[in-house]
Amino acid sequence: MAKSAGFCFGVKRAMDMALEAAKRFPGHLYTLGPLIHNPQAVEYLDQLGIKVRDRVESILKGTVIFRSHGVSLRDFKKAREKGLHIIDATCPIVKRARFFVKFLHRHGYSLLIVGDPHHPEVEAIQSYIDKGVEVVEDVEAVKRLGPWEKLGIIAQTTQSFGLFKEIVATSLEMAKETRVFNTICHATTIRQKEAVEIAKKVECMIVVGGYNSGNTQRLAGICREIQPHTYHIETAREINPRWLAKVEKVGLTAGASTPSWIISEVEVEVRRIKGL
Ligand code: SF4
Repeated sequence: MAKSAGFCFGVKRAMDMALEAAKRFPGHLYTLGPLIHNPQAVEYLDQLGIKVRDRVESILKGTVIFRSHGVSLRDFKKAREKGLHIIDATCPIVKRARFFVKFLHRHGYSLLIVGDPHHPEVEAIQSYIDKGVEVVEDVEAVKRLGPWEKLGIIAQTTQSFGLFKEIVATSLEMAKETRVFNTICHATTIRQKEAVEIAKKVECMIVVGGYNSGNTQRLAGICREIQPHTYHIETAREINPRWLAKVEKVGLTAGASTPSWIISEVEVEVRRIKGL
C-alpha cells in the first residue's frame, strides 16, 4: 500500500472547506464543476446539500465553492458580478503556477504549459493570459510550434516529471532563451515515485480513483509501463478475482482525489479474495 495514496493537501483542504460550508451556509450551496474528480465523493457532498453546477450562469444566488483546480478569470468575474458568496478552495500550489504564467507573460515570454489542454486546471491557468500561450502534451507538439526568441515553460501541477523534462530538453534547442518554472506539485512527484517503486515489486498493481481523474489516469499509465498487470478501478466492486489468482504480491495506490474510505474498501476486498 502506497503511503501517499489518497487525498493530497489541496484536495483535503477543498473537502474540509466544503464540509465547513455545508454547516455554515446550508441551502443554495454549489460547486462550480465537481469539487473533486471522484464520483463517489461528489455523491456524498450532494447528500449534504452541496450541488454541482457547470456554469456560473445557472447559479442564481447563494454560495459558490471554487474547487482546487481553480476557475477561469471569466467565471471568477461573473461570480463576483452576480454578487455570489465565493469560497475559493483553489489549491495554493495551483495559484503559484498561475502566478508564474502571469509573471512570464508580463516579461514578454511566449508560453508553454505542459499538460492536458482540456483539464480544468490548465484551462483556468490559460484564461489569465489573453494570447501567446500553448498547451503541449508531447515533444512533437513542441517541435511543431517552435522556434522562439524567449520561451517560458510551466507544467500542469499533476504532470509526469519525466515528460516535463523531455519537453524542456527539446525546447532548449528551439529557443534563444528558455525560462522554466517547475510547477509540478511535490505531492504528485512523491506519489508517482512511490507507485513506480511498488509496481517494480509486485505482480499486480491496483490504482484507485475516478475515471475522470487525470492524475489517477497518469498514475495508472506510469505503473502500467512497469507492470502490465495494472488495473485502474473506481470502487472495490470492480476487482476481478482472476486478476489476483496466481499473484502473491499486490500493489495498491490511489489518485489525489480518492477518499480514504474507498481505498480501505479496496484493501479489504483484496484481502477477502486472497483469504488474508
Ligand atoms: S495535486 Fe498538488 S497542486 Fe493539485 S490539488 Fe493536490 S496539492 Fe494541490
